[in-house]
Amino acid sequence: MGNKMKKFLLFFIFINIFLGLFLVSYAGTESNDINGIDENLYPGVKSKIQALKSAHPNWNIKVEYTDLDWNEVINAEHQGHGTTSQNIKNCVSSTSSSYSGLWICEICGKTKYDTGAWYCASTDALKYMMDVRNSVNETDVFQFLQLSSTQDYTNDTNVKNTLTNMAKTTNYLDSECINAIIEAASTYHVDPYYIMAKIIVEQGNTTTTLISGNGYNGQYPGVYNFFNIGATGNGKDDVIRQGLAYAASQGWTTKRASIVNGTRIIAQNYIAKEQDTLYYQKFNVVGNNRFNHQYEQNILGAQTGGTSLRKIYKNMDSNLSGNYSFIIPLYKNMPTSACVRPSTTASHPTRKYNDGRCKFR
Ligand SMILES: [Zn+2]
Repeated sequence: MGNKMKKFLLFFIFINIFLGLFLVSYAGTESNDINGIDENLYPGVKSKIQALKSAHPNWNIKVEYTDLDWNEVINAEHQGHGTTSQNIKNCVSSTSSSYSGLWICEICGKTKYDTGAWYCASTDALKYMMDVRNSVNETDVFQFLQLSSTQDYTNDTNVKNTLTNMAKTTNYLDSECINAIIEAASTYHVDPYYIMAKIIVEQGNTTTTLISGNGYNGQYPGVYNFFNIGATGNGKDDVIRQGLAYAASQGWTTKRASIVNGTRIIAQNYIAKEQDTLYYQKFNVVGNNRFNHQYEQNILGAQTGGTSLRKIYKNMDSNLSGNYSFIIPLYKNMPTSACVRPSTTASHPTRKYNDGRCKFR
């Protein structure tokens, strides 16, 4: 092979690797260097991370430089107005007075979505909920917990003992479940505590129909669905039936099969697609199919999910002294101070009602 040809080939390979890096995902750049965060570019976040770090020296808190402009992020999340509920990216409850006033979309007003339970969320609500300076604190930080893991836990007695302890808060997580969680975590690279916490979030502390193995009204005996996968529908009956039908269609006839395969689905759907924290599952700012493929529309989803995780972790580790990892996204051109909580009593200045809806700005 001639020298020119070699050079050409090298150049060709290089270009492909270079393009590949950008095309595969939009992921930002992660950094452990908290002290090195530039306060001029990212005001107000460093001190909050440092405070958490000094309270929890074992925590590994990373930042992710998303390279995204803050206002473009908010604009991309504030889309789909006036169409069907599937197109709305962020909603607030229409029945809670805590999320009225400026929480409600300045474009949609009180247009109700999804059988009336939801309003579209406002720009102000998005700014408040997405601004990490409002959630890098003891109460809310678990929405940034890193859910993936690269370890093999097969022979890790420490993890097994901790899981066994954690399982005591329920009446259904037996040794078959614990072994399945360890197998699933090692196989699909998911944090084992998160797998258990996710099961407890989905099922609560006592046996439910979806994990009893007894079926429902004579249908689907002997199947299990620990993560409520496919359990959707109109009303409780329908939800249970769909969840059991899904488990039956997948052949989940043991607790192990449901937990291991359910973990595979959760990992493939979100965690392996760079949506590696509850915040990223709700606000997909760095994963594939950015600003789409979001786990839920409820604007509080990441925060309430994080609160549940924290509660479960605290049950097994009261000082939260474990070596947990967190990823905090940073955006460019943030306002100098944290975005404020929207007023529940004020209304948007340009909102004018016409048949119960506001006019477009
Ligand atoms: Zn709207």
